[in-house]
Parts: sequence; structure tokens; C-alpha cells
Amino acid sequence: MFENSLEYAQQLDLEDNLSHLRDRYSIPQQKGCDIIYLCGNSLGLQPKLAKEYLLQELEDWAMLGVEGHFKSNNPWFSYHEWFANPLANLVGAKPTEVVAMNNLTVNLHLLLVSFYQPKGKRNKILFESTAFPSDRYALESQIHFHGLRPEDCLIELHTDSHGYISTESLLSKITEIGEELACVMLGGVNYFTGQWFDLEKITQKAHEVGAIAGFDLAHAIGNVPMNLHQWEVDFACWCSYKYLNSGPGAVAGIFVHEKFGDGSKLKRFHGWWGNNSKTRFKMGKEFQASIGAEGWQLSNAPVFNMVAHRAALEIFEEVGLTNLRRKSILLTGYLEFLLLEINRFHQKDLIKILTPANSDERGCQLSLQISTDGKNLFESMVKAGFLSDWREPDVIRISPVPMYNTFEDVWKTANFILEYFTSFYQRKTASTA
Ligand SMILES: *Cc1c(COP(=O)(O)O)cnc(C)c1O
Repeated sequence: MFENSLEYAQQLDLEDNLSHLRDRYSIPQQKGCDIIYLCGNSLGLQPKLAKEYLLQELEDWAMLGVEGHFKSNNPWFSYHEWFANPLANLVGAKPTEVVAMNNLTVNLHLLLVSFYQPKGKRNKILFESTAFPSDRYALESQIHFHGLRPEDCLIELHTDSHGYISTESLLSKITEIGEELACVMLGGVNYFTGQWFDLEKITQKAHEVGAIAGFDLAHAIGNVPMNLHQWEVDFACWCSYKYLNSGPGAVAGIFVHEKFGDGSKLKRFHGWWGNNSKTRFKMGKEFQASIGAEGWQLSNAPVFNMVAHRAALEIFEEVGLTNLRRKSILLTGYLEFLLLEINRFHQKDLIKILTPANSDERGCQLSLQISTDGKNLFESMVKAGFLSDWREPDVIRISPVPMYNTFEDVWKTANFILEYFTSFYQRKTASTA
């Protein structure tokens, strides 16, 4: 279906009706040239408008002081409210089910306070063994917080030798733990393997055994389409600096299903920003919860930290995730095709793709296990202006992002790897001759 040539890649770029978006981002430079940036899964690129938006808020602060809460161009009192619609669109939720606040791990803790309530035998949390370390630390410390032991309560699902966790094995594990399962907490898209889990089926099964279903969507949001409301997911959290391009440490977000109303039936840590906005500034003694996810807010909105998020989400609103996803499937599919060509060309299994081949089980990212000289390959790529990321002992994660990467980027990357191995084997032959 695809062809392995630069001309073909350039033709795909010409046919790409999203190619103009690249111009809206600052592309990092090396020796006066655009870097081929394949790290959008780690830190997305800067939308050019972010600077202007930041200057606007600095200017309003300078001119208005405290009056900026209500009189600035984008009043700070309600600044976070702007995010409800775009975030709802990205995760398939109602606007009242989402809110932009804090950072990811902070939010995971706040949500676990509400949603991990061990009772008797029902005290177990199911998660994936390749979960992001921060999630593991959060889960372990929550278990300790309840006076329990992670050895007893945290159940890890291990991947098979291909780095894969099948839906069947996930669902049967949930059934097996049954009435002892308090909560499923998985990465929606696993950060290491790039596997996208079937959140709907997992949620359904968790509910069948009476457990809560929560997900960390750090690698899913802005990457794959979701329908959290319809799937009846209980809670979710995410960060915004990966596929959402909102800058290092940018404000994160949460989803809480509307079935939890004003949250009054759950345990929760409260702060004044979770108070209903109508009475928030009345400074009363009694907490009056906002309806929906807003009730989980603690503090007033970090406006400087939200400006890039706003600039970034405006572009998602304009383009729509459906269009991005269509391109993404093609772009990652093209990368996969070219990488497998390298194996074929060298008649060796140099690259094992850990990420599922089925596009319904992955987003942008491909995780490549390199059998030969991986670390040197990675370092040569960086030197030559191809930025991806390395995970010990032998994995390169590459993420062509539909928002700003091109088919030419993908072709040049695969071609670099092909030529790297060609010269690697030439050197080897020469040294043994
Ligand atoms: C990126 C990422 C994090 C990072 O957490 P922060 O609180 O934003 O530093 C946590 N969990 C997952 C799954 C991630 O991918």
C-alpha cells in the first residue's frame, strides 16, 4: 500500500490537508535546520501564539493588579472555565465532567482519595506492570495511606514477551480478582509500549465485579479518540504537555463522570476553588460544592501556566481530533511500513516493534526494541538531528505527531536508520576481513 521513497513521502505531504498546521508551532533548531522532532509523546512543541497569550496576561497584571480577576481581557476568576469545552471534546465528556487543574500526579492522588476507598476484602488495585513510575508511587503511597500494604493490594498485569497485554487477559484478571477488586487504574495508552487499551470493555468488566474504573490518559489525550462519558468511566486524569503541546509542567486535567453529581457521596479534599463559583468569593464558612469535576479544584487558576494550554487547545478545537486521528493512523502506519522494510533489506530482525500492529490498539507512538547497537544508533540519530527518546536497555520510542510532523520526517528517519545499519555491517565486515 505504501512506497519507500522520498518522492512518495513528499507526495503524501502534498495530499495532507493538515500540513499547514506545522507553521503554527516553533520547530526546534539544530545547525540552522529544523530538527526532525519525534518526541511529541514526551514534550509537545510550542504553539507560536503561546508567547502572545502570556504577554497579554503579564500586561493585564501590570495594568490592573488585583482587578485583573474580573476586569482583564480574559478574567482570571473564570480563566479555567474556558477549558471545559475543548477538554470535553478531546475525551468525549460533558463540559461539567472535566476541569483543568494542578498537575497529573497531584490529580491522581486527589482522585484516588475519592475513588480508592478500600473496605474489608475489597482493597485491591489492578494496574499494568509497565505503568509510568509516578503512577506506581502514587498507588503504593495511597495504599499505605489506608494502613495497607502494596504487596497485598497492588496487582500488576504483566506483558507477554512482545510487550503486549491482551484485552482477554485483562478482563479475565478482573473477573479473577472479583469482589476483592476496589479499582482498576491503567494508563489509557501505555507510555512505554504505546498500547492503547480497550477502556470501554475494561470499564464494563470492572463495574460487573463492583469495582471503580479509572485511567491515566497522559499518553491518550490528544492522541486517540475517547468517549469517557458514554463508556461510563468513573474517573480519569491527564497531563497536557505531551500530545496537548501546553508546555513543561503545564496545567493538567481530570474527568469525573456526571453520575457522581456534586461529589457529596464521596470522600474528597476541599479547597475554595471547588466551591460553587456563585458563592466562592462570599468566603462563607460552609463549603458549597460545585457540580461536577470543578468540585475537585482546590486553588485559584494558575493563569500564566494556562496560557499555553489555551493557545494549544484552540488549535485542537479548530482542527478536530477526528481529522488528526485520520492523519495519525496513516503517518504511524507509514513509519511502521518503512521500519519493517529495514528488517527486510538487512534480512535480520533488527527492529522489533513492541507497539501493537493494529491501529485500534495504538496512537502515534511506536516503541522499537533494537536488537543490535541500539544505544549507538540512538545517539547517532540525535547527532544528526532526529530527536526521539531512549529507554534502557534497548528501546527507542518514536512518535510522529499528526499536528506538526510530516511524511517526509518519517521517511528521513527510517532512511537514516536503514543507512546506519548498512554502514554498521560494512564496518563489521571490514574489521573481520
Ligand atoms: C508523563 C506521565 C506522568 C508525569 O506526571 P506529572 O505529574 O505530570 O509529572 C505520569 N504518569 C504517566 C502515565 C505519564 O505518562
